[in-house]
Amino acid sequence: MQIDLDFSSLEGHEQALEALRKGGRKEPFPSLVFEGPAHVGKRLVGIWYAAFLNCLDSEAQAPCGVCRSCKKIKSGIHPDLHLTRVPEKKTVVGVSEVREAIYEVHHAPFEGNFRVWVIEEGERLSDEAQNALLKTLEEPPERAIILLVTNLGGTLIPTVSSRCRLVRFHVLQSDRVEKALLARGASDSQAKRLSALCSGAFGSALSLFSEPKSLEERDAVLELFSSLPGKDLWGAVETAQRLEKTKLNGLGSVLDLGISFFRDLLVLSAGSVDLVVHRERMDRLQELASVMSAAKIRFAIQELQEADHFVQRNVSPRLLLQRLCINLSKAC
Ligand SMILES: [Zn+2]
Repeated sequence: MQIDLDFSSLEGHEQALEALRKGGRKEPFPSLVFEGPAHVGKRLVGIWYAAFLNCLDSEAQAPCGVCRSCKKIKSGIHPDLHLTRVPEKKTVVGVSEVREAIYEVHHAPFEGNFRVWVIEEGERLSDEAQNALLKTLEEPPERAIILLVTNLGGTLIPTVSSRCRLVRFHVLQSDRVEKALLARGASDSQAKRLSALCSGAFGSALSLFSEPKSLEERDAVLELFSSLPGKDLWGAVETAQRLEKTKLNGLGSVLDLGISFFRDLLVLSAGSVDLVVHRERMDRLQELASVMSAAKIRFAIQELQEADHFVQRNVSPRLLLQRLCINLSKAC
């Protein structure tokens, strides 16, 4: 697995990096929670930390990026860096994945100073998996770091979060996102559009900029959501099937896009045109704003949020999308 070790994209996280540096290399914090909005760069900071702790240049205040250790982390082959994410076709990280990783981190590092275990979607750990983690968090193995990355509003159980040091992450100001994109060769209009689309989540802005296909994919998903209100039953079921097949990064991202579309509708119907994010969809937004009441728009947003909640509860994506699309089709 190739890892993007371009730490120049850690825009705006100076505070978090400073907090981590403070722990130093000798006695770093063994259990951490990185909490903040999605796609701002929390995972990358986690990998930065692993690189920092294991960098062979022991005086450096940041990973050098060129030593043997940094290079291995960069190519995703460092034996002391473990990344845990939701397995394909599942919606949660289960207890078996967690037990396996716990077994691993109890062994001494293979070649680095520390084993670093990054759990990428902490909010998708099942309760059972979180309980399995408790003892390890309480008595962390020597020279091991456990790092739980969670999106805001995640559902870590209190006994887990209270055993970890919390590092908070924030979205960036839009002018900072624009500037950073311009510095990477984006045009003025591209920088403005991507910054508006990502609402300060620089990681998203960057991946949309470097992969134009993902922008197309997002457009396709927005188109599906925008076409839903007023569809008949079969139209709704067909839309659910198409949403299920989308190549966007996970069902959570699909639902986030839906929420952002209906939020636009809500701000538009309240007369705040300036706050609309998906301006390229203004015609359809205006059309819908003229026929959907604010209560119905709120209902649609609630449905999407509820679906997002169920994604974290291991509900079948197919059933979830079908139910959601049928309800959204009736929101008109
Ligand atoms: Zn290095």
